Amino acid sequence: MKHLIPYLHDDQKAADYLRQLRWPNGVMCPRCGSGAVESRERGDNGLQRFNCVHCAVRLGQQCALCTDWTHSIFEESKLRPLDWLLVIGLWQLKLNATEIAAAADIQERTAQRCINRLDGGIYETYHLDPRRQLAHQVEADECYQSAGSKGLPRDVERRDRAPRSRGIQLRGRATAETGRPPILGLVQRRDKADPDAPAAQVSLEVLEHVRTATIKPIIAARVKGGAQFFTDEYNIYHFAEANYDHRTVNHGAGEYARRDPDGACVHCNTMEGLWSGLRNFLDRFKGISQRFLHLRVVRYEFLHNHGHLHWRQTFEAAVRCIFSTPGEYLRRMAHQYRRIPLTLCYR
Ligand SMILES: [Zn+2]
Repeated sequence: MKHLIPYLHDDQKAADYLRQLRWPNGVMCPRCGSGAVESRERGDNGLQRFNCVHCAVRLGQQCALCTDWTHSIFEESKLRPLDWLLVIGLWQLKLNATEIAAAADIQERTAQRCINRLDGGIYETYHLDPRRQLAHQVEADECYQSAGSKGLPRDVERRDRAPRSRGIQLRGRATAETGRPPILGLVQRRDKADPDAPAAQVSLEVLEHVRTATIKPIIAARVKGGAQFFTDEYNIYHFAEANYDHRTVNHGAGEYARRDPDGACVHCNTMEGLWSGLRNFLDRFKGISQRFLHLRVVRYEFLHNHGHLHWRQTFEAAVRCIFSTPGEYLRRMAHQYRRIPLTLCYR
């Protein structure tokens, strides 16, 4: 976080740094995209105000004002630019809300809202970005994460049940309904022949249940056709034979890795390693609500995929992603009882 120090001097410096990340080629009007903007006086919180000449003419007004944060997820926030800079830095260190609140000296509820906004912005702009596709050698696997109704006392009451008994194996695969939503993981293996290749790129999706009907559209959207596709012998993946070079290892028969005659290593060990990383990360939250599980998971996905970059490059990539949305996803999510169904995300 050392590179943030010069910008943490006051709100104006913090606002200037964030503005430069949002508009690296000069300020553009967030409403019409015109570059014909005039600077006006700063607000009390250090944010620069602008007047868009084009919008003023269009609306027939004397001036049409906007600020550094108009039409961004920070717009409705009362937090100052300096605090936001600090919170984003701490967010990147994979801290939970309690730790961020203590380190940035803000209220815990505020920190909770901040990390939801940041995670939600990344979910919308990075995770749902249809251009991001995996190719070449892709492994798929699923894991199950306990998640309940933390932070929703009324929901806990409504369910009116005894505490979850641990260690008891329910019959069949776990589902979100039984308190253990499955997570589908897709990872493109790192190209070992190329020393400059980025970290293994991963895509993680929280599901209601694992069935072919659920995972098929996700895999079709995420994995390029023709890729080598490695899974275990679980039958939900059988459909993949049509579009991919699909190979399986038989865990049931004690087989975990093998080398095929054409030289391809058939295993899911990259994904298995990622699961332990994800578990370690999710453990920091000490219990997690199903409503927010996918937001925490996407933070891990983003930070893992940028793991080969310098801290500053990752920070600036995150800020650019977050600035590229006004926060539409979170606003829709606020009206949903639980997670937005995936069918609304993949079309
Ligand atoms: Zn304008």
